[in-house]
Amino acid sequence: MKSTKTISLTNKIFIALLLGMATGLILYPMRENAFVKTYLIGFLFHFLGNGFVRAIRMVVVPLVLCSLVVGAAGIEDITKLGRVGIKTLTFYLGTTAAAVTLALIGGNIINPGLGVRVSDIAVGSVKVAESKPFVDILLDMIPINPVEALATGNMLQIIVFAILLGVALSLLGEKAAGIKKLFEEGNNISLKLVEIIMLFAPLGVYGLISKTFATMGYSAILPLFKYFIGVVIILLVHCLVTYQGILVLIGKYNPIKFFKKFSPTMMVAFSTASSSACLPSSLKCMQEGFGVSKSISSFTIPLGNTINMDGTAVMQGVATIFIAQIYGIDLTMGNYITIILTATLASIGTAGVPGVGVIMLGMVLVQVGLPLEGIGLVMGIDRFVDMFRTTVNVTGDAVCTLVIAKSEGEILEGAEAQKFEKAKA
Ligand code: ASP
Repeated sequence: MKSTKTISLTNKIFIALLLGMATGLILYPMRENAFVKTYLIGFLFHFLGNGFVRAIRMVVVPLVLCSLVVGAAGIEDITKLGRVGIKTLTFYLGTTAAAVTLALIGGNIINPGLGVRVSDIAVGSVKVAESKPFVDILLDMIPINPVEALATGNMLQIIVFAILLGVALSLLGEKAAGIKKLFEEGNNISLKLVEIIMLFAPLGVYGLISKTFATMGYSAILPLFKYFIGVVIILLVHCLVTYQGILVLIGKYNPIKFFKKFSPTMMVAFSTASSSACLPSSLKCMQEGFGVSKSISSFTIPLGNTINMDGTAVMQGVATIFIAQIYGIDLTMGNYITIILTATLASIGTAGVPGVGVIMLGMVLVQVGLPLEGIGLVMGIDRFVDMFRTTVNVTGDAVCTLVIAKSEGEILEGAEAQKFEKAKA
């Protein structure tokens, strides 16, 4: 019963996505009409879309805290935590560096900035991220006040606090069994909340997509068409070749099965353009859809959601080449290496909310001496690019989780998996 329900929810979200695009495209020419502007775009779509995003973000902090505490408390062997940590970080950093490299190679083949007239592009205003010394970035991960970290939703601080709390619970064993149980129950409640909120995903997705297409000047894509298509193609290659290659060769997982199970989260990513809004659905999908253990998924998913942004790194790579070409600046081999390093770091520092990746692009441009005004050139169509790159961002976390779970024997397989699928049905 349940599996048909899941499939129908996936289809409902997909239909909502298509209907949202159609509605937005129809309304775009009428966007200045008072009724359309005030009641449809400004009220109905805004309420449906943002209401859904707010509801889903409401569960992010309790879910990450509870699931990470439960996950870390469940790992009896501390060395395993270290091993999983190192594997996960290696995977995340490695795939991000591969993503930028792919973007630079693809960018040089597509040449997104050649033949583009700056006068045809609607230039946006430029905001740039301030870059911090590396030591401060590391120190910032340690919360001096965990309550403040939870209240402000500082994900890296929450991750550090939750892991330590879980380790302490595990070391205390029976002496803290009550608190451990409390977090287990908190985790179950949070997952139930996600299930309830996801029932409204079709409405939320419809509202978000209608609003985006009705308000954003998609005609602005035309002068930037090569840049837009270039990013999308490279994202597709990264998703279909790099990820699926890893999944098949290392994870021994069927890619079609992967997309079938993970597509609801991918559609939420596409419509919200926010990784952090996808965290609850990603986590639920890994645990209840793929049968990955809590101790692995509750570590890899929140961490990946915060630091692993391959889609963002691809955009930063292509955008850098685009801007260099527009300004007629030749990039050297040294520049390319700098771009790979800084885009990898910039994507780690990118928050999982819409539009931050393009602001972090400033860090890359500064490092290679390109004009910051270049950001304004790509800003106009960034929302559309963001929808695609966010989808890749969350897909990378899921692929990593499956591969690590497989290597640790923490995913249900064979007869166990069949029993699990049957129990769900
Ligand atoms: N919107 C992206 C995300 O949430 C971040 C970005 O702007 O690149 O993953």
